[in-house]
Amino acid sequence: MSIDFTTATFKDFENIPDYDIAQRAEYFYEFLDHMKSRGHMNYRLKNTSGTNATLNIDIANQNKEYVSFVSSDYLGFTQHPKVKQAAIEGIEKYGTGTGASPLIGGYFDYHSAIEKKIAGFFGRKEEEVILFTTGYAANSATLQILMQKEDLAILDMGVHASVHEGCVFTNKKTFPHNNLEALEHILKISENTYRTKLVIVDGVYSQEGDTSRAKEIHALVKKYNAYLMVDDAHGVGVMGKTGRGALEDDGLLDKVDFITGTSSKTFGNLGGYVIANKKIASFLKFQSRQHIFSVTAPPSSFGILKAIDLVDEEPFWKDKLWDNINYFKNGLNDLGLDTGITCSAIIPVKIGDQSKMWDIGRILLEEGVYTNPIMYPAVARKDARIRMTVTARHEKEHLDKTLNVFDDINKKLHIAKK
Ligand code: PMP
Repeated sequence: MSIDFTTATFKDFENIPDYDIAQRAEYFYEFLDHMKSRGHMNYRLKNTSGTNATLNIDIANQNKEYVSFVSSDYLGFTQHPKVKQAAIEGIEKYGTGTGASPLIGGYFDYHSAIEKKIAGFFGRKEEEVILFTTGYAANSATLQILMQKEDLAILDMGVHASVHEGCVFTNKKTFPHNNLEALEHILKISENTYRTKLVIVDGVYSQEGDTSRAKEIHALVKKYNAYLMVDDAHGVGVMGKTGRGALEDDGLLDKVDFITGTSSKTFGNLGGYVIANKKIASFLKFQSRQHIFSVTAPPSSFGILKAIDLVDEEPFWKDKLWDNINYFKNGLNDLGLDTGITCSAIIPVKIGDQSKMWDIGRILLEEGVYTNPIMYPAVARKDARIRMTVTARHEKEHLDKTLNVFDDINKKLHIAKK
């Protein structure tokens, strides 16, 4: 077998010619053992306390506290007493589940209240919002039903896996991240070839932490008579003057054709949503297989209603988040570490080499800092990095401790780029 375990990624085991399911699984099992024996298993660690600035994880039956940079709960609302209380009220009123998918009995008045709340948040109307089970489903389901074999989806290379999955029934072209010339070239040569052309970008990119060039992309999309979808999973609550996300300050919230998002990050819960014009939203409600055949938003989603209110009622969480982002990023840069082009709460420390990244992930963990080592296929093979997300729950002591650990690692492994 030709896979080298020291450079392997999870993806390498998806398809090995001549290996059936059981053989691939067995070989992958060996790979996991190899990772564990080298202390490189930062994945699927068992959280025993909930998500917060610090949390407990159980590794080999040792339960310890770590400073955490692995959560997209950017404003810390999963732990907000009012959000928890709302979730409890939802359960007390409705029980714990919906019992059916929305089309056939699982659509409750609180679903309509969430649709209305999300619509209000983005300055849109209730009938323009559709809920999905997750943000992943929102992207994949919407694209799967809207985009067919006569159509063309044009994706920034940095968009989420769920967008790629949504394109299984359609034609797909990707352009290099934020490269407008390449995008325009695709739009131009495809002008008369496809029925519908839909450009898909992120508001905030989940691995680089930068934003799309939404204003210019919107102008290009108009010029070539295409549609624009923006997945702003990581922008909502973080970006924009009032936390409406990456589209707010450019005045694009009511101009792009589709906004997709999730309630699993700033809104501290579970669930996805799509905003589109009311006829397309209605089409999705009755045609999308994932919406017809899968439940959405259990009663604990009442928490979403409160979390959305809190973005406006308690703006100091966003201020604190930004103090933390700036402090931490400057601290890393002062150590000479390369945080790339981020301008959000997602902060990557670029390492490059994958096995070095694993070593750094292990040392961070040994020193009580929980981060996400990210490798191919989430990023290019030579672009491995330690990905961290800062939240409003972090205090200076958490950030300073982590900066000290990075300082020590840098002294040993020379990861500074400047
Ligand atoms: N879009 C982006 C850009 C994401 O990062 C994620 C979550 N990792 C999703 C969509 C999916 O959201 P969810 O976890 O709610 O399914």
